[in-house]
Amino acid sequence: MKRPVKLSKADKELIAAATAAIRQRYRDDWQEVGAALRTRAGKIFTGVNLDAYLGRMAVCAEAVALGRAVVDLGDAGIETIVAVRHPPPYEKDQTIAVVSPCGACRELIFDYDPQARVIVPNGTSPGVVAIADLLPNKYSRGAEG
Ligand SMILES: [Zn+2]
Repeated sequence: MKRPVKLSKADKELIAAATAAIRQRYRDDWQEVGAALRTRAGKIFTGVNLDAYLGRMAVCAEAVALGRAVVDLGDAGIETIVAVRHPPPYEKDQTIAVVSPCGACRELIFDYDPQARVIVPNGTSPGVVAIADLLPNKYSRGAEG
């Protein structure tokens, strides 16, 4: 994988938006991850994960943010996306930190914008990678390429 590149001012704003979303809506065991995406036109949408008693019904924060964008604007692309995790109260370190998108979200992000940038953890400070770099050999139904 290519080395992540440094965050821009806009990337830091996106992390701040995801952090604000989960800080506002955190509920232990229910909402622990926040996400924010910037559309190609520059509009920011946020989401939080929807955990569920029936685990397979759980929805990731990235998908909620994307859903809000699609409802408002239709297919507006994903210029950049980030997810952050709010620690549960029993964890000593209460830092809200950037987390990598799960495998399913990598597929989703790629489907909606193959050129999307993704903010990922990178040692002491997060960095940016291309979604294609997070998803080599993406799933394909066959000859559609
Ligand atoms: Zn996910």
